[in-house]
Amino acid sequence: MRKNLKFVALKNGYVFNGEKIYVQSMLNVPSKDVKANILQAKALKEAGCEILRVAVPSCEDSVLVSALKKEISCPIVADIHYDHFAAIEAIKAGADKIRINPGNMTKDQLKEVAKYCKNFNVPIRIGVNSGSLEKQLLKKYGGPTVDALVYSAIKTVNMFEEEFNFFDIVVSIKASDVVKTVMACRKFRKLANNPLHIGVTEAGIKEFSIVKSSIGIGSLLLDSIGETLRVSITANPIEEIKAGHAILKALNLEKKGVEIISCPTCGRTKIDIIGLTTKVKHKLSGVKKNIKIAIMGCVVNGPGEAKDADIGIAGGDLVGVIFKKGKVLYKVKEEEILNVLLKEIETM
Ligand code: SF4
Repeated sequence: MRKNLKFVALKNGYVFNGEKIYVQSMLNVPSKDVKANILQAKALKEAGCEILRVAVPSCEDSVLVSALKKEISCPIVADIHYDHFAAIEAIKAGADKIRINPGNMTKDQLKEVAKYCKNFNVPIRIGVNSGSLEKQLLKKYGGPTVDALVYSAIKTVNMFEEEFNFFDIVVSIKASDVVKTVMACRKFRKLANNPLHIGVTEAGIKEFSIVKSSIGIGSLLLDSIGETLRVSITANPIEEIKAGHAILKALNLEKKGVEIISCPTCGRTKIDIIGLTTKVKHKLSGVKKNIKIAIMGCVVNGPGEAKDADIGIAGGDLVGVIFKKGKVLYKVKEEEILNVLLKEIETM
């Protein structure tokens, strides 16, 4: 549990206290297509999505929230821009959290949303985004600077707490610039202790997003900042879930699933390590076991370098040596390595 973090709970028992970091994603099929949304939501849940955000552009789209609530057990966050009536309808439809952007609603509208959230016991995420900062702040700070982003978040939190008497607030401060995002979240954390949803926004296609998000989200998590996260990728949102859990695993903040460590190969490598690693990854893609597998190019360094792996192979001259926890077991021919390795993993 993180010290001094403000306690915010979702209706269905999810608590933001830093003990668990929740991986989020957002549905990206048209809001009007309820069936397609439910199908995608189920696929995301199956892939490990723990909090699901859905766009509710108008009051009519709140039917999507109630439909999802009937079909999906993970918390549903209604994403609202401009139309505060849509927020109210989404709250009534059972949303577990409302995400609003302070730059897109008037004070009176925000107050009304806070009133309904309080009555229905629904937390609010104040989502500050460099692309939609309040006009007067852009003017005052000369653009969406770190200070402008943080000021917007602090000002809105203070307004909700002091003027609307509403305290169940999660905050996000995002920019497409990694350094700006990290600096803004760090600065906010020094000034306020609301739970933070973290991520680098509009991070691009997978190739770019993985790098930007790993640096941004990873830097913040290493500072113990961030209670929920989203890896924004221009792709099927399942990729966001995979990347989110991969970041948590890389930081030892999560232990579930298969982890493959493999060497980069070098002049000593005498078997197809790149091909073997790709095949092992593919074959184990749906496996939920907590297992660390090492695929190393040589016996000189392989088992020693991968001592903490549960199982692994180290390549030799057209052979592979199977090892467990760094101890060599036996040798097999190159063409048998994949099957032997998979069989060993099956028994574990
Ligand atoms: Fe080279 Fe062996 Fe290291 Fe792989 S494990 S990079 S083959 S020294």
